[in-house]
Amino acid sequence: MANTMKAAVVEKPGVLRIKQVPVPQIADEEVLIRVKYTGICGTDWSIFTGKYSADKLPMVPGHEFSGTVAQVGKRAKGLKEGERVTADINMSCGTCFYCRKGQKLMCRDFHQLGIHVDGTFAEYVKAPCDQVHKLPDNLDFLAGAFVEPVSCVIHSSKAARVTHGSSVAVIGCGLGVLHGALARQRGAAPVIVIGDNARKLAIAKDMGADVVLNVNEVKDPVAEVKKLTEGRGADFVVEAVGTPRTYEQALAMVRPGGTVAAFGICAGDDTITVRPFDLVLGEKTIVGSCAGVGPDWPDAIALLAYGHIKPQPLFSLIVPLEELEAALNELRTNPNLTKVFVASDITKREILSK
Ligand SMILES: [Zn+2]
Ligand SMILES: [Zn+2]
Repeated sequence: MANTMKAAVVEKPGVLRIKQVPVPQIADEEVLIRVKYTGICGTDWSIFTGKYSADKLPMVPGHEFSGTVAQVGKRAKGLKEGERVTADINMSCGTCFYCRKGQKLMCRDFHQLGIHVDGTFAEYVKAPCDQVHKLPDNLDFLAGAFVEPVSCVIHSSKAARVTHGSSVAVIGCGLGVLHGALARQRGAAPVIVIGDNARKLAIAKDMGADVVLNVNEVKDPVAEVKKLTEGRGADFVVEAVGTPRTYEQALAMVRPGGTVAAFGICAGDDTITVRPFDLVLGEKTIVGSCAGVGPDWPDAIALLAYGHIKPQPLFSLIVPLEELEAALNELRTNPNLTKVFVASDITKREILSK
């Protein structure tokens, strides 16, 4: 194997270079993975522009990925060269208060592959063997690169504990589409997805939403959700946009005694206005969820492998690694693009769905 590889390096905010870098050296309990596909995520834009992880640059971003095991460390158990895999990107110290409490996402040394340490917009990436998950034969490399976002949505869904026959309103039609699909899986009815993009809302409907509300047509989504739930508001509301306004809408849209799942990521200094009255007398609950972790990964793999979640309509394009920066920009300007994958071994882009 060569000592160097092609990688997309964010050198400083706004500067991304495709260049040769050393192939990662693995420790005994790590494996080296030859990357097949990496999905582009909003976080990659934030890293590219310096809104996120600016103190970690230069860095190779990329965290939604699939690949094959290329090299196995001496003490890395349970994996063989050539096996098709993805990896849980969430790494923690294992010994702090939070790790010992089983809350590794709160670890004081929490770091994520491709967000805080070098990731997968490259030919190879290394990962600790106990974070690597094999992909079953009925899960292809593209869906394998989509396990990470599905695991995040599963984590949120488990935190909210959506139950059979309960109404779920999802604000947002990015990953909100997946939240709708998962609410359907959990037996919710009706599942309402609210967004601003007709094409994405049509996909949401195909993937399990009973009702979609386009905010360009519906003036007041809160009133509309109340109308659909006999005036009460939804039993569960998922905020999957990440703006103060939509968080306030979520709290207004959930019924007394209901639960808001906080999923969309706001800016660090954003604040919202909450009436404590609604939380106390209205017994409204807010549950946060940061990422898919641990068991959320095999759970995501199972749902994808058996087709209970069919994300293919969300897959737009595969682009060569050399076009990563162009694709990051296209995702900002073309509202009809959904998931764009990057591959280091192709020279021409491939269209997956229009
Ligand atoms: Zn992501
Ligand atoms: Zn820890």
